[in-house]
Amino acid sequence: MAALTRLLKPSSSSSITFLFRRSLSSTTTAVVSDIESQHNQRPNFSDPKGSRNFQWVFLGCPGVGKGTYASRLSTLLGVPHIATGDLVREELSSSGPLSRQLAEIVNQGKLVSDEIIFNLLSKRLEAGESKGESGFILDGFPRTIRQAEILDEVTEIDLVVNLKLREDVLVEKCLGRRICSQCGKGFNVASINAKEENGRPAMSMAPLLPPSHCSTKLITRADDTEHVVKERLRVYQEKSQPVEDFYREQGKIMEFDLPGGIPESWPKLLEALNLEDYEVKRSAVA
Ligand code: AMP
Repeated sequence: MAALTRLLKPSSSSSITFLFRRSLSSTTTAVVSDIESQHNQRPNFSDPKGSRNFQWVFLGCPGVGKGTYASRLSTLLGVPHIATGDLVREELSSSGPLSRQLAEIVNQGKLVSDEIIFNLLSKRLEAGESKGESGFILDGFPRTIRQAEILDEVTEIDLVVNLKLREDVLVEKCLGRRICSQCGKGFNVASINAKEENGRPAMSMAPLLPPSHCSTKLITRADDTEHVVKERLRVYQEKSQPVEDFYREQGKIMEFDLPGGIPESWPKLLEALNLEDYEVKRSAVA
């Protein structure tokens, strides 16, 4: 617990866009060599005026609920929730030149190139920085070892939360996922009742239904079909599982087995993060 408490404390300040911005003008290969060449003269991230905000990463298979819990924590901790999947979907919905190329990759359940992801992330961080944002909870990034290594070179991650859920439930959750096309909020129409099986405990999750003003505007993500979800899970095992090991070796990972839906999982997650008091104090001053 002492180690976790230490991780929860924001450490020195940083501006990670500084390095992303400098480095992302060309390809990731250039990014890596640029960063490597600066390795011995990395900017000092400690902010003489004070400490920086939380810099956390959420890992976990597609459909596990990274977005839901990262977004709740972002509100609680006052740091932006940055989901690279959202950045990709924003780019997809624009009529930019990248859009058609991205649609083909995303709709097959494959990963977008590191170069594109770093560019989108860099732009998002830069926009946030100009609005005075600091800290972040990253969701869906890093997803490859290369992304993790580059992130590691440009800034320090305080904590990595690895969310876990049985695979049959993950598939059901992805298939039940809906988004309001107007307000962008996410819902889930799946009513999950997975039986105990091969030592895995039974699990129930109530649907997360939309309010009436959203219910007529629901859309399903094009990559939330059974075939594509299964491919995304396969890609996760192949490319992203090594990222878990990367952070495990650094002693930064907190494993969290979701016990059920939001009502069961949220209080337990806060407890595991030592944040129950934080929520009580915040609601007391709200
Ligand atoms: P998500 O909403 O996180 O499931 O992301 C949707 C899709 O966006 C993924 O299936 C990938 O095609 C792409 N994507 C999101 N984040 C990344 C990333 N860090 N690296 C590569 N591709 C990504």
